[in-house]
Formats: sequence, C-alpha cells, structure tokens
Amino acid sequence: MARDKAVLWHPFTQMQDWVRDVPGPPLCIVAGDGNWLVDVDGNRYLDGVASLWCNTHGHRHPSIDSAIRDQLDRIAHTTLLGLTHPKAIEAAEAIVDLLPTGLERVFFSENGASAVEVALKMALRYWQLEGEPDRTTFVSLEDAYHGDTIGAVSVGGIDLFHEAFGPLLFPGVHAPTARRRPDGSKPSLDELLSGMEAALRATSGRVAAVVIEPLVQGAAGMQCFPDGYVRGVRNLCDDEGTLLICDEVATGFGRTGKMFAVEHDGVAPDIIVLGKGITGGYLPMSATVTTGGVYDAFLGLTEEGRHLFHGHTYSGNPLAAAACVATIEVFETERTLEQMAVNDHVLAAHLEKISHLGPVVDVRRRGYMVGIELDPDTVATPLPARAVCQAVRLDGVVLRNLGDVVVWMPPLSITSDEIDLLGSATAKAIGALR
Ligand SMILES: *Cc1c(COP(=O)(O)O)cnc(C)c1O
Repeated sequence: MARDKAVLWHPFTQMQDWVRDVPGPPLCIVAGDGNWLVDVDGNRYLDGVASLWCNTHGHRHPSIDSAIRDQLDRIAHTTLLGLTHPKAIEAAEAIVDLLPTGLERVFFSENGASAVEVALKMALRYWQLEGEPDRTTFVSLEDAYHGDTIGAVSVGGIDLFHEAFGPLLFPGVHAPTARRRPDGSKPSLDELLSGMEAALRATSGRVAAVVIEPLVQGAAGMQCFPDGYVRGVRNLCDDEGTLLICDEVATGFGRTGKMFAVEHDGVAPDIIVLGKGITGGYLPMSATVTTGGVYDAFLGLTEEGRHLFHGHTYSGNPLAAAACVATIEVFETERTLEQMAVNDHVLAAHLEKISHLGPVVDVRRRGYMVGIELDPDTVATPLPARAVCQAVRLDGVVLRNLGDVVVWMPPLSITSDEIDLLGSATAKAIGALR
C-alpha cells in the first residue's frame, strides 16, 4: 500500500483521503472468482458493483478465459486501420444480431467516453454530408453522464463532475431528468416528454441529435424513467427530423433485464453506444453502432474526404473482441436473462425491507441497476452512503456509492444466496447509521 500511495493517482478519488485510509484502509485485489473478489490477505468480497458496472458473467469465467487465451496464442493486437481480423468481424456480427433491426454498422473504440465522442462526431458530420450544416446542437438530459472526455462532458449534466471544465465545453440544451424533486414527487411521463418537446422546439432545425441514457441515468444515481419515455423521445426526434443517440454503456448487455434498455419500449435509435459489459468486464472495448442510412452518407471517393476521421490505436483489439464474442455466447449458454428474471423477486424483497429503514428516502431499480438514496440530514454520520459502502466490507461485500446513493450493480450472474448477502449486509449497515 505504501508503494500505491507513493505512485498512483486513482480516478474519481480524493487522494488526501486515500493516503490517510479515509474512510478506511484501501483494499488490494489480487484475484477474482465468480462473483467474488479476493484481496491480498485472502479475504473474499462479493463484487457488488461488478468492478465498476461492467462484469456480467463473473470473474475468471472458463469460456471467456479460454477465448482470450486462444486469441493470445494467435495475436494480441493488430489494427483495424487498413487491416482486419476475424474476431472483430465475429464480434461486430454478434453485436448486430443482438441489436434492434436497423442498427447494422459497428465502429469499435476502447472505452465508453470515446464511443460517445464517435457518436457525436458521426451525427454532426452526417448532417454536413446531408446538406444540413446548421444541425450542430446536441440536446441531452439534465444530470446526464456520458463519460469524461470533453465532448462527452459537454453533453453531460452533473455539476459536480462537469462544472469545473465549463471553459472547455461546447454549449448544448438540456431536457428534464426524472430525478425526484425536493418535495419527494417525480415528474410524470407527460412532463418529461413536454420538457423534451420544449427543448427541441427551442432549437428546431439546429439539432444534430438528442442524446439520452435510455431508461436509467446511471451516474445520476440510478434515476429511472417511466416506460414510454424512450418511445416518446424517438417520436419527438422523428417529428423534428433529427437523430436519436442512445448511450447504453451502462444499461446495455442485460443490465435492465433485457439485452438493451431500448427494447423495453421496442425502439431503435439511429446510433447506439455500447461499452462496459461488452467484454463481460474483461477488457477495454466499446462500440458505436449505427444504421445503414447514417453509414451511407459517409460513402464517396477517398479524395472527397467524406469518411469518418476518427480512430483509436486499440480499436477492435483482438483480445477484447474475443472476450466480446465469448461474453455474448455465455448469455445464450447460461440463459443469463432468464436467470435474472428468476432471481428478481429475491432482489425486490430485500429492497422492500430496505426502503422502510429510517435514512432511506428512495429506492430505484431497473433489473440489476439499483440506487438506494439516503437522506444525509437524518443521520449524524457525514457522507452516510460512503459510510455504508465502507461498513459492508466487514460482511464481505464491496460497494461504491454515488453521492448519497448506495449503488448495487452486481454481476448478472449473482446467485440468490449472494443477493441475500448483499441485501442483509446493506440493511445492517444502513440500520447502524446514527
Ligand atoms: C460509464 C459510462 C460511460 C463512460 O464509459 P467509460 O468506459 O468509463 O469511458 C458513458 N456513458 C455511460 C452511461 C456510462 O455509465
């Protein structure tokens, strides 16, 4: 730990706390085993946030491990710039097979934020190529989170993460989030959609795309939108004649109980952004997938310069692509979504109990995306959600809060016994707040 503290700068971490062991000594993870993490002292912890929302089928899954090893015996990396390789082709085919009809062209990047940048550039450039160069404005949601690069932050809306970087950001327009109001009420479907309609009306003719996290705004604290919202936004985009970008980096690959969140409303966006679970949480990979219509606009002679000027060194990396293909296969072989549906009532029962605990003001959930919001004014403990995440370690659970929200984002492979542990450890820690 002394060596860590001497050299590492951890993401989204107040390092002054970290080096002083606040709120507790950091864990050093040396191994994984199914839904569990193992620390340097051999202690085992349930991976309650799926190693930052990305693990889907557990750690050291035999078939994902062997797919990566098999690829390693061939080649670890080759480029998609001017060359191709079998695993990128297989991964793209497998992704297209899963997605709603119409999304058929896959552009690989290395992380969610980069894939969002690609989506923004694709949309902007699409309108230039289509002869509507005034469509340069992006409409996004209040409290949105699309990653930490400058374009992704520009369409973001979380003040704590984004405000400081204001001078670097391009302007945009925000539509209302589903966050509960100070009086405890939540906006209705009609209110949310008329807010979006107003944002589109104010920018009519200038909108390059509407960008949303469909169904659940993750980093905003698991804010859940009502059914019908994504369909409503799709219709509004069609009326305005603009593109819809759905960022499914968090919600994609089974998180919400369907393979993609847009399926709940039976909607297809023009561009979908994928990341996190795309490799089962094994290796960095993301994808921006679009329609034949958007793709076709970029076709022409090389010297016309219509092609997309964007790419990353490790775009479509073969090891990551192998993990992606194997991860998608496991959804089939282990019937992951069916198993989630079977365990759903176990999760629901724990959350029902937790919702009655004193400091809990709201419990939000869609599939295996859960936010338990605490009211810091009801307890003396400062940063109570952080304190809860620290306390559950004593019961062998790793969690990470978002502000006042305790998050559960377990691997989709979590068993009912493990859900029981997650539920009882969290309830105990919240109950112990003073
Ligand atoms: C995590 C996340 C991102 C950013 O992905 P990175 O791989 O961390 O860059 C983008 N959008 C959403 C909705 C996310 O949850």
